[in-house]
Amino acid sequence: MAGGRVCVVTGANRGIGREVARQLALAGDLVVLTARDLGKAEKAARELGEAVGAWQLDVSDPGSVERFAGEIGVAHGRVDVLVNNAAIHYDTWQRATDADLTVVQEALETNLLGAWRVTLALLPLLRASDHARVVNVSSEMGSLASMGAGTPAYAVSKAGLNALTRILAAELHREGVLVNSVCPGWAATDMGGAGGRPVAEGARSVLWAADLPDGGPTGGFFQDGAPLPW
Ligand code: NDP
Repeated sequence: MAGGRVCVVTGANRGIGREVARQLALAGDLVVLTARDLGKAEKAARELGEAVGAWQLDVSDPGSVERFAGEIGVAHGRVDVLVNNAAIHYDTWQRATDADLTVVQEALETNLLGAWRVTLALLPLLRASDHARVVNVSSEMGSLASMGAGTPAYAVSKAGLNALTRILAAELHREGVLVNSVCPGWAATDMGGAGGRPVAEGARSVLWAADLPDGGPTGGFFQDGAPLPW
């Protein structure tokens, strides 16, 4: 399915988002590279080449999201792939029993509501695509099946994102919009730290879900194209 699509990636100025943008552009897609800081988006887009455009998008700011959706509608008229990648607060320093709820609230605002907000704003443009795909970049940390102590803000936000994936997938199934959660695996980024898999390998899980053919899976949770337990 790759090539010639309009692909929006959130939080794409660094890490997995930037690598996803790079690989989409290499495959011949038109990439809408977004970052909350326009200067950082412009720098990354310049580095990635002519098929990549830079846009300001703060997923936690409703005004920014609305403005962005309006501008993309005018510029492109449709969105074929939305990668909800932006995330914060991998809070290994706290536990649910002593959590700072301000941190939890911020994580939910970006990791869950940010993805939800951007999806809602872009829905008319996704519906204008014949092969729309929404990829929610989640984490195995959000899997209820293996959930244990610690990292509460991040884990709860990703579990919520996984729930959102199921609901959106069910509601959009008839329209052919495929919605999936993916885990990139532990990847060596600012969030993941040193020692993880190369960022290109992390991005592969994301691209797999972006490239699904019509009739492909929807409402699932995958890593490297293989199902993960919820
Ligand atoms: P990074 O911390 O390297 O990058 C996060 C990106 O999100 C940055 O571009 C950051 O922008 C952006 N961002 C944060 N808040 C906002 C916001 N409000 N609006 C727009 N952009 C925002 O993380 P990774 O690349 O490692 O992670 C990418 C995704 O993969 C995340 O969803 C993460 O949860 C997931 N993941 C990562 C794993 C890993 O090991 N790395 C493992 C499992 C899942 P800025 O530069 O402005 O801060």
